[in-house]
Parts: sequence; structure tokens; C-alpha cells
Amino acid sequence: MSNVLFFNVARDGHVNPTLGIIKELVNRGEKVTYYCSREYRDRIEQTGATFRAYEKRLDKTNTPDTPMMFLIYHMLRDTEHRIRTILPKVQEEEYDYVIFDSSCAAGWIIADILHLPKISSCSMLAMDQRNPKVDRKSYTEVDREYLVKSKEILNNLKKAYALNSIPLHDFKRIMSFPGDLTFVFTSKYFQNNADQFDETFRFVGPSITLRKDAENFPYEKLQGKPVIYISMGTIVNQQVEFYQKCFRAFAGMDAKVVLSVGKNTKIEELGTIPDNFIVRNYVPQLEILQHTDVFFTHGGMNSASEGLYFATPLAVLPISNDQPMVAKRVKELGAGIQLDFHRVTPAVLRETAELLLSDSTYKQHAHKIGDSFRGAGGYQKVVDDIFEWKGSTFE
Ligand code: UDP
Repeated sequence: MSNVLFFNVARDGHVNPTLGIIKELVNRGEKVTYYCSREYRDRIEQTGATFRAYEKRLDKTNTPDTPMMFLIYHMLRDTEHRIRTILPKVQEEEYDYVIFDSSCAAGWIIADILHLPKISSCSMLAMDQRNPKVDRKSYTEVDREYLVKSKEILNNLKKAYALNSIPLHDFKRIMSFPGDLTFVFTSKYFQNNADQFDETFRFVGPSITLRKDAENFPYEKLQGKPVIYISMGTIVNQQVEFYQKCFRAFAGMDAKVVLSVGKNTKIEELGTIPDNFIVRNYVPQLEILQHTDVFFTHGGMNSASEGLYFATPLAVLPISNDQPMVAKRVKELGAGIQLDFHRVTPAVLRETAELLLSDSTYKQHAHKIGDSFRGAGGYQKVVDDIFEWKGSTFE
């Protein structure tokens, strides 16, 4: 039995894939202490882990157009705050290894300070660590201003904890920390440039476990007609204009449309909802996808993977982060179509749905990716690999 310290960021797409892993680790005797934001308490406690909440985030101000260094600066402020508040407590306790989300710098740094082995949980496409440098010429004025502030934080951290190995300009690195082992929740087939990663990167497929986190859904209403499912995920989902375009695109179509608008969108402010739509703030996505024929998604790694896992052709409308990379990969592998989120019209949405419904090659390619996911091992492989690695690391 080992004592495991776990750090995640407060995002559904990063927490959900870890739930099956934690449950399995706990079933196999590991004692897991899991740090995350308060809103994830229930989900995490259901796995048998001990939950600990981060203190409130210092700020939360970003839009898809926010300059990269501004995001990094705020991430570093949060990181510094977390280290200062968490380290004194965990230093008093005994842990054997640390698992952290690859974008959770605090997890990597705390593991480093405690000289503990590191395991990275990567919910995005893996980043090639050999060519990650940013072209500094592309920095804006704002980037430069926040670069200076970020350096200050980093220097403070370096001084306080004798950290030497965190590169600030490698923003990809600072957003994507590998570990002694890195589990990437996709298949080698879906990962771009998969052969550039060494054997410490394990492509295990999306970690899909059914979740009981949404209200009951009237599945009987999805019978008999093609089903179109639309969701922009949980972060960039306040997109009233886009949802209204979807109303215009699919009203009167001989299809049922499920639209998840996110918890912060007011459904009553969307205007008249066509009869063939079911609109909710949050839906049981994994179950809905099992009834879905076409999925309009922002290309969040989890949503895209979940859709492909169930062999659903995708229309991908990337907005930010790694979504353009995901969209590119879906397109390259023939499992869907990429659309321009900002310019798309109702007519294009409708044509896209009709094409994805009528041309079966998209579904075949989605199926092939889904097969590669199922064959990649999932959370059982993660836990088997961790136990094998423990055997060679601790003995
Ligand atoms: N999700 C869900 N119901 C919804 C909307 C989203 O269950 O109505 C889940 C979805 O299944 C996925 C996660 O929320 O696991 C979204 O993660 P993703 O990486 O796709 O996007 P993000 O929210 O991080 O932008």
C-alpha cells in the first residue's frame, strides 16, 4: 500500500478522466489524497480518495483572446499561492509518489520539492518537449508586461525552494509537465507525432467511466430520428449567438437536437426554442453520445474523444487552447469536419450535419479511432503500469 498525493486543476475535462484511475488505485489498496477545487468534492470522494480543497483561486479572468503570458502569470500566482498553503501540511505527512495533472504546475513543483517520484496525467494531446520554445517576437506589449511579472514570481519560487529546472519561456512546458511516467488519454493513433515520444509516455486512451453527474434525461425522445448533439464543453460555453445560429440551422429538420448550453447560460434568454430541440444546462454526455449521429463540439479533448469512442462523426468548431489541434487531428483522420466558429452560418451548420449524416466514411473513420481508444487499455492499464513502475522504482 502506498500513500499517493494527487493534484488536479479545476476543470471537468481534467478531473473526469482521473476518476476511474483513482477508484481502481483505491480498490487495489492505495491511499489517495486528492487536491482540487471544492466543486469537485463529491465526484472525488465517490472514488474512495480523501478530498482536500484548494483555497479559493486568486483570480479568474480569461477569455479566448487573452494573451498567453497573462494566463501564465495568473497560473503562476495561483501556483505560488497553492505551494505556500499546501506544502507545510504535506511536508508533515509521508507520501510515496505524486500524481498531477500535466497542466497543474503546483503538483509538479511540490513533488519536486519533496523529492518524490512524479506521475503526470495528461488530458490534452501530449506536447513535444523538444521543440516547445515560443517565438518571443510574437509577444505583444501585454505579453511582455506579464512576462516581467511572471519572472518575478518564478524567481521568488526558485529562491524559496531551490528550484532550478522550470523554464519560463517554454510556455508549452509550463502548461504541460511530463512525469517519470506520463499517461496521455488518447491513443497513439490519434496523437500527432506519436513516435516522437519515449516509452515514459503511455497512450492509454480516454479514461471513460460512466458518471452520475447529470439530471435524468428523456432518452425516449431520441428514438426514431437522427440525433444531433451540440456542446461547447464546460468553459467556453457562454455562446448565445452560436446557439441561436443552431436554432436557425436545425429548426424543422427531421432530426432531434440535444443542446447543452453550460451552467452559466440562461436558457430563458436564448429566445424561442424550436420544437425538435432539447436544451439543457448540462446533460449526461456519455449516455447522450450513445444515441448521437452527429456531434457539434468545440473540440475539447474529452468531448472529442468521448464522441469518437462511441464512433460519432464530429463537426469541430475550435475556440481556444488545444482545440485547434484536436480539430486538425479529427480532420486529418477523416472522422469529421472542421468549421470556423466565428464565421459559421446556419446554412453551413445544416449542410455539415447533412453531410456527416449521409456520408458513412466519416462514421467509419470515427469507428477506427474509437477502436484505437478501446485497444489502448484505459484506466486499468494506467493502474497496471503504475504498479509495475512501483515495483521497479521502490524496490
Ligand atoms: N460534459 C458533460 N455534460 C455536458 C457538457 C460537458 O458531461 O453537458 C463533460 C464532457 O463529457 C467532458 C467534459 O464535460 O468530459 C468537457 O471536457 P472537454 O475537454 O471536452 O472541454 P472543456 O470543458 O475542458 O472545454
